[in-house]
Amino acid sequence: MKNICPLCDSENIEKIETCESYPVPFSKNVTIKQHLFRCNTCEHEGDFSRTQDKVFIKKLTEANFKSAQELMDDITNQGITMTYFEKALRLPFRTTARWKRGKMSHSALALLRLIRFSPALLDVADNNFSESSQAEYRFKQLFHFFDKHTINPSGSYIATKDKNELKLEGTCFVPFSMQTVSSDPKSIWSGQ
Ligand SMILES: [Zn+2]
Repeated sequence: MKNICPLCDSENIEKIETCESYPVPFSKNVTIKQHLFRCNTCEHEGDFSRTQDKVFIKKLTEANFKSAQELMDDITNQGITMTYFEKALRLPFRTTARWKRGKMSHSALALLRLIRFSPALLDVADNNFSESSQAEYRFKQLFHFFDKHTINPSGSYIATKDKNELKLEGTCFVPFSMQTVSSDPKSIWSGQ
């Protein structure tokens, strides 16, 4: 079958090779080469033969699955054993060993990324997502964020019989803009 331009039906098309980079979370970008077409009449470029989509998705999926080993190494380097990982998440014994042998699924990869993003989630899971473990997690995350993204952080926590008072002070430098800053913490921290 002869390839034609899907936009203008021109047969004056040529093969081109593109090379683009795509992000893989917590890993290096993957560069994927594609053999596409360019229309010399209307300058439209694309997969006119409709054969490249599958190849592209396969390459992108492979690159993402390949990052699983890196994610597991990163988690282990934070002092978390894969045994604890499995125990906390109630995964069958040696699940991560299967992942290491390349038996990866999309959901397993998603789970690895979430734990790589916030390893302390394992402690919450290990405590059956109890109210107190959730509270502890959120409290620690707040301090962690404050510590990491604030110049000269200072804080105090006063607990008396009647009330708990928490004060955090410092100049935030954050990679996103928090335009509304008010004394109402809800308006600062919501919307994240
Ligand atoms: Zn065209």
